[in-house]
Amino acid sequence: HLASGIVGLANVGKSTFFQAITKSKMGNPANYPFATIKPEEAVVTVQSSTLDKLAALYGSQKIIPSVLNIWDIAGLIKGASENKGLGNAFLSDIRAVDGIFQVVRGFKDDDITHIEGNVDPTRDLTIVQDELLLKDMEFIENSLDRIAKNLKNKRIRPAGEVAKLEVQQKTLAVAYDHLLEGRRILDKPDWTEEEIEALNEHSLLTAKPAIFLLNVSKQDYLSGENEFLSSVQCWVDENAPGSAVMMFSADYESQIVESGENSAIPKIVNAMRDALKLISFYTCGPIEARQWTIRQGTLCPQASGVIHSDFERTFINAEVIKFRDIANMQPPLNEKSLRSLGKIARVGKTYVVEDGDLMRINAAA
Ligand code: GDP
Repeated sequence: HLASGIVGLANVGKSTFFQAITKSKMGNPANYPFATIKPEEAVVTVQSSTLDKLAALYGSQKIIPSVLNIWDIAGLIKGASENKGLGNAFLSDIRAVDGIFQVVRGFKDDDITHIEGNVDPTRDLTIVQDELLLKDMEFIENSLDRIAKNLKNKRIRPAGEVAKLEVQQKTLAVAYDHLLEGRRILDKPDWTEEEIEALNEHSLLTAKPAIFLLNVSKQDYLSGENEFLSSVQCWVDENAPGSAVMMFSADYESQIVESGENSAIPKIVNAMRDALKLISFYTCGPIEARQWTIRQGTLCPQASGVIHSDFERTFINAEVIKFRDIANMQPPLNEKSLRSLGKIARVGKTYVVEDGDLMRINAAA
């Protein structure tokens, strides 16, 4: 199950935001089917207008949306990579998540101390990113030492394993040089498949996608204007190109009870899903309409395995309706006429599931 973490300096509004998520009507759904939720872990349901529309078309009694796990990670301070403050514990918490919400303070309030003295979001972004880059460099140095030692022991290793270690060594050296230039691992566009596979074994902090969240006053959030927004956007274009920048107000989010009222949370959750390259497919009937989450590029049997692990092995074929073909129809949905229009396709094991596919899986019992 994919998780994302809220990261930033102390006193920027992370906990306020986290609490607002858990208290919103999207937070910690009652029928959450997974493991116990810890105080620092929230589960937030994904808002999907597609799911709502499908449920209406099928007259489904129950609607089951996807969820995203969100971790509240303790505040980072300058020097964390040298183990200042919570230092390494904090950085290993980041290692465990798949995506990062980087919260930065864009609200002025003399009563709330800024750990660096004044409100300056781009300076803060640089502090956090530098810590992540430094930590990755330290991590790579340690891994390279370990690999070099292992390679000296050649005689006890099968040839295949030696070759694999050599790929690791070569890839990590390239990654190190890239970090030395102050660039995130994620921002090197020409990693090969082999290199990506090697890097994936190390869960490097700067290889994780990030969403940049500027925490502003309620007034600024509702007006859509903040004095720091354009400089934050410039910083992100330069230092984390392609990443989403969003304004929100932790203060405002904690005041609204009904999260329909202009809450930024649904957009933030969907931006993270995009950053993680997650898409949705759906299963629908009169009993329930359900949204399922997969990675872009997932084949039909593996997608079926998300519904039930046996389905991956026993998959026969599937019927697919494209949501765009029925988006403008009125309930009740008439599948017979859809079929005669050729809008229900039968697909096999090599079909790559697309965002918005409505699926009916055929598997051997
Ligand atoms: P964290 O250390 O990043 O988790 O920060 P907190 O969420 O604990 O917030 C630190 C302080 O800033 C608290 O007193 C919050 O009430 C306050 N705070 C958080 N967000 C806002 C905001 O949007 N506006 C204002 N004025 N204060 C905020």
